[in-house]
Amino acid sequence: MTIAPALAACLEPLAAVLPAVGSRIGGEIVLGEGEAITVMNPANGQALFTYPDAGARVAGQATEAARAGFRALSALMPAHRGRIMQEIGRQVRAHLEALARLESLAAGKPIRDARVEVARVAEMFEYYGGWCDKLHGEVIPVPTSHLVYTRREPFGVALQITPWNAPIFTAGWQIAPAIAAGNAVVLKPSELTPLTSLALAGIAEAAGLPAGVVNVLAGYGHTTGQAALESPAVEKVVFVGSVPTGRKIAEAAAKRIIPAVLELGGKSANIVFPDADLARAAIGAQAAIFSGAGQSCVAGSRLLVHRKVHDELVARIAEGAKKLKLGDPLDPATEIGPINNARQFTRVKDLIAAGVSEGGQLVAGGAQQGEGYFVAPTIVAGLSNKANLAQEEVFGPVLAAIPFEDEEEAIALANDTAFGLAGAVWTGDVGRAHRVAAAVRAGTFWVNSYKTIHVAVPFGGFGMSGYGRSSGLDVLHEYTRTKAVWVETAARPAVAFGYAAGLRE
Ligand code: NAD
Repeated sequence: MTIAPALAACLEPLAAVLPAVGSRIGGEIVLGEGEAITVMNPANGQALFTYPDAGARVAGQATEAARAGFRALSALMPAHRGRIMQEIGRQVRAHLEALARLESLAAGKPIRDARVEVARVAEMFEYYGGWCDKLHGEVIPVPTSHLVYTRREPFGVALQITPWNAPIFTAGWQIAPAIAAGNAVVLKPSELTPLTSLALAGIAEAAGLPAGVVNVLAGYGHTTGQAALESPAVEKVVFVGSVPTGRKIAEAAAKRIIPAVLELGGKSANIVFPDADLARAAIGAQAAIFSGAGQSCVAGSRLLVHRKVHDELVARIAEGAKKLKLGDPLDPATEIGPINNARQFTRVKDLIAAGVSEGGQLVAGGAQQGEGYFVAPTIVAGLSNKANLAQEEVFGPVLAAIPFEDEEEAIALANDTAFGLAGAVWTGDVGRAHRVAAAVRAGTFWVNSYKTIHVAVPFGGFGMSGYGRSSGLDVLHEYTRTKAVWVETAARPAVAFGYAAGLRE
């Protein structure tokens, strides 16, 4: 295992919760047995650390540890579980700066964004900690002499597979509701970004969570992740990532007949009408696509703008884009960091080139900036909504600007995508705002706003963006299943058995 000095310095304040780069299983760090994985620093393209893939045997160990963790968690009163979760939130806040610096260096996330995301993780544990003793079933009146009630029961062991774009945020987003609902988890973060998820698991245990409740596997998806998914201990899988991998996960889950939640990609439409406040719409559109260097599932990557204001709005966004500060993710002034990895960097550049070869005009950006995987905020105008760049998820800072004539066409264009994760409308007409919000096929929709999300609000996709929900009360239902209990209360039941037992007029 090799660790670059810059990373060693970032890991040092977290040594108590992240003593080595391996998998965290049953409270111990277990070193991998597979091939070596080298992770690059996206800001300069140099090697940052190398560690061994966990491998199938270690994955099996993690799912068994989670089984034991589930038993330990089940022995705690829900209110006790809630208090531990509040303490996890407090300890995440106590480690905020160290976690944010680690995320910033290892994932290329601007430090200002990393700080916000770590604070959000604390909030997730606090919010779901409050739900632990409030998740209950109901009593259902039936036309028999039975007392019927329901229980919301955890699945036991949930497998969570996450991507590289917001590693600790996504880990907290899935772990917090899963354990609030009483499950133990095996989290398999992206092989490119395992560090902050490992640190979070260490913090959870330091805060009092029994060992084995949160296990983290460091390694590849096709080896370690797949082996975990094949384990009979796993009874639920939640996947956040790309469509092709999501399809494989869904197929594997279907074979095993376990339920899956898929949080996949998007090609979200940001619709601007001429009656909008154009200055605000320009800032909103810029944030929608360029924040996080566009590596966000809800990125507003298609700007649908009324022909009357198209040129003016595109010029405003281009002007703003040129002022955004790209650079060292650890510099507090940096607004846009690099693309996370070399493969994604190449994909973004290829898609821009394809957009230009399809007849798009490069209004801003388009080029690599300096060393590392930096791409300047890019705007391509003049493309049809059928163009590759308007249909494929780029997952980079690339905006396709497309004009429309009227409301009907705007809605048709917004829905002309296989995805359905998010969207927005900018307008001064309240009736139009609600009409468009209802007509666009997407799991999240903003009016005169973009990219606000909160732990209390359900989140998830339509169409190829996936199914199932994260956040809000909905996710607690995803992490529990309903059991109905029938209790005969009659002294002398009318019928001994059968569907009509005890039926009353
Ligand atoms: P990816 O699909 O390549 O990988 C995601 C995870 O799946 C990784 O942990 C990977 O190791 C694992 N994996 C890969 N093959 C596997 C297999 N055969 N079995 C089990 N696990 C396997 O995605 P990515 O490139 O890491 O992330 C980018 C994608 O994630 C984008 O498409 C983006 O839109 C999506 N995303 C969606 C959301 C959302 O909430 N909807 C949020 C963030 C990212």
